Amino acid sequence: MRKKIIAGNWKMNKTVAEALALVDGLKAELASCMDVEVVVCPPFTALKSVGDVLAGTQIKLGCQNMSSEDDGAYTGEISHAMLRDLSVKYVILGHSERREYYKETDFWVNKKVKKALEKNLRPIVCVGEKLADRESGNTEKVVEEQIRGSLAGITAEQFENVVVAYEPVWAIGTGKTATSEQAQEVHAFIRSIIRDMVGEKAAKGLRIQYGGSMKASNAKELLSQPDIDGGLIGGAALEARSFVDIVKAGI
Ligand code: PEP
Repeated sequence: MRKKIIAGNWKMNKTVAEALALVDGLKAELASCMDVEVVVCPPFTALKSVGDVLAGTQIKLGCQNMSSEDDGAYTGEISHAMLRDLSVKYVILGHSERREYYKETDFWVNKKVKKALEKNLRPIVCVGEKLADRESGNTEKVVEEQIRGSLAGITAEQFENVVVAYEPVWAIGTGKTATSEQAQEVHAFIRSIIRDMVGEKAAKGLRIQYGGSMKASNAKELLSQPDIDGGLIGGAALEARSFVDIVKAGI
């Protein structure tokens, strides 16, 4: 039985004061939520303040990127040790915006995934096809390449700490959601690839989130699909009411 995991990706939004206002609203309703694992991923600048407020609650802290290196001359980067210092548990890696705007390839995502696992951070590894891929019938080919590339060399045991997020790029921030059938089909496909890579047990245990315009009104149907184990939420995570309602849809 896989416990559902709902994570909010705040992206480049929220000053510290705004982040604190949002997290206060989340804490009021979700502080002791045990049925669904709840994760919030504020920008780096708000991690400390948000983490302090979340201490002692069931809501976990995540971040949106991490360096593949340990320390040293990497201007502008943030290391695993810096994140662990702030009680960060999850790290989103390979988000389509990082792949698109910062040219992160599967090679780099894989380096970061390995580093995160080695340092006891749990990666949320994002994959997903673009509209042109879907329209040309290449969804499975693209997703398989990203899964095999981003997760190369990860052992069955390490997979216990991995979350995969299937995020069709055409559904991110567009208001267009994949239908529950479209999403379920790709989730089942991803699980079959993982089965081929590391075996049945790891594949069965892996949590696969859906991301792409998930909101309170469509969450229940998406989350009731057999291979959809949670959501990675962008826009609807920026307001307490809508995020709380999505979490409740997963209970
Ligand atoms: C995302 O960027 O991870 C995402 C799912 O965004 P949105 O919910 O806004 O589509």
